[in-house]
Amino acid sequence: MTQNPLFTPVSATGEFGLIELLTDELGPPLDEDILRTIGDDAAVYKIGEGRVHVVTTDVLIESIHFDRTFMPMEYLGVKSMAVNVSDIVAMNARPRFATIALGIPHSVSVEMIQDVYKGIKKSCDAYGMTLIGGDTVAAQKMTLSVTVIGEAEESRVVYRHGAVAGDALCVTGDVGASYAGLRLLLEQNKQLQKSGNGFKPVFDDYKYVIQRHLTPTPRLSAIEALKKANVRPHAMIDISDGLASEVQHICRQSHCGATLTAENLPIHEETKKVAGLFSQDADTYALYGGEDYELLIALPESELKKLPKGVLTQIGVVTEESSIMIETPEGAVIPLQGKGYQHFGGPSDADS
Ligand code: ADP
Ligand code: MG
Repeated sequence: MTQNPLFTPVSATGEFGLIELLTDELGPPLDEDILRTIGDDAAVYKIGEGRVHVVTTDVLIESIHFDRTFMPMEYLGVKSMAVNVSDIVAMNARPRFATIALGIPHSVSVEMIQDVYKGIKKSCDAYGMTLIGGDTVAAQKMTLSVTVIGEAEESRVVYRHGAVAGDALCVTGDVGASYAGLRLLLEQNKQLQKSGNGFKPVFDDYKYVIQRHLTPTPRLSAIEALKKANVRPHAMIDISDGLASEVQHICRQSHCGATLTAENLPIHEETKKVAGLFSQDADTYALYGGEDYELLIALPESELKKLPKGVLTQIGVVTEESSIMIETPEGAVIPLQGKGYQHFGGPSDADS
């Protein structure tokens, strides 16, 4: 079948290819106050007196980002804020203000939206942030599009570029748990559909991974620890699409490579248990799972030593060559596949 020259499917460019295409069409920003536009976790612009605002938008759409059968409405409110706050934190900034645009289908009630707002309120209180506006429209699918504005000192903002050879590559918390939680929820949902009322989901043994998937916690605590120890990392990104993909982003934007050590990946016992349950590899969950909303950080080893134990786990080093490698538990050093979650199933990030 020949392709229509006036209708290029988005799968041909992929998510990242499309963003690059549109960025080229917009051209460079002319406003001198803008320090960073498209291409990082959030845009950055000066607001005066050495301070900046950082701005990010993330959208959650029913059936793509969440399944209403196992996503309580209050948690949806929490998650819609968390995924945005995570991008603000990844710039080493603090969240201040949020707006939300809601798309509401007929099957969603006033009470359900009130529950979403309970989650939003809890998150705003927890992160010291205020919801200051939004938009409300009818939609085919439930949609939550959130924008968060954060604030920072210009000199403390950390970008995806800036990593240098020799830096320690570290992560906060643990990785792969969110995917383990999702895998379990999807499986239990499948069983539920199959066996109807007779099926009893088992959640109690897996509370940690399920909670990590439904209500992720952005690592505001980690950037507070960095500030306290007077450590400013060279590069930072949050782990939304999967660790392997985020390593690619940092390396590509910093013009460097990396070598990871599989044995050093911090993986929770419950994540390993779930991977075992499905005869899958926990390292695969950790590298490609996504939605962990942990931070991936590159910083000199001397700076890493200034932080209290437990804030960061070193998972590798930044290297000069552009290749991204991983040392397997058997001691082999092999190329790390760059795939991560991409909407539209476009070409992998490593190819672009
Ligand atoms: P993240 O996973 O950190 O939210 P994304 O991969 O969604 O980052 O986005 C990468 C960059 O592309 C960000 O700077 C974001 O603002 C920008 N971006 C994404 N979609 C668009 C779009 N449609 N138009 C302009 N910029 C976009
Ligand atoms: Mg991000």
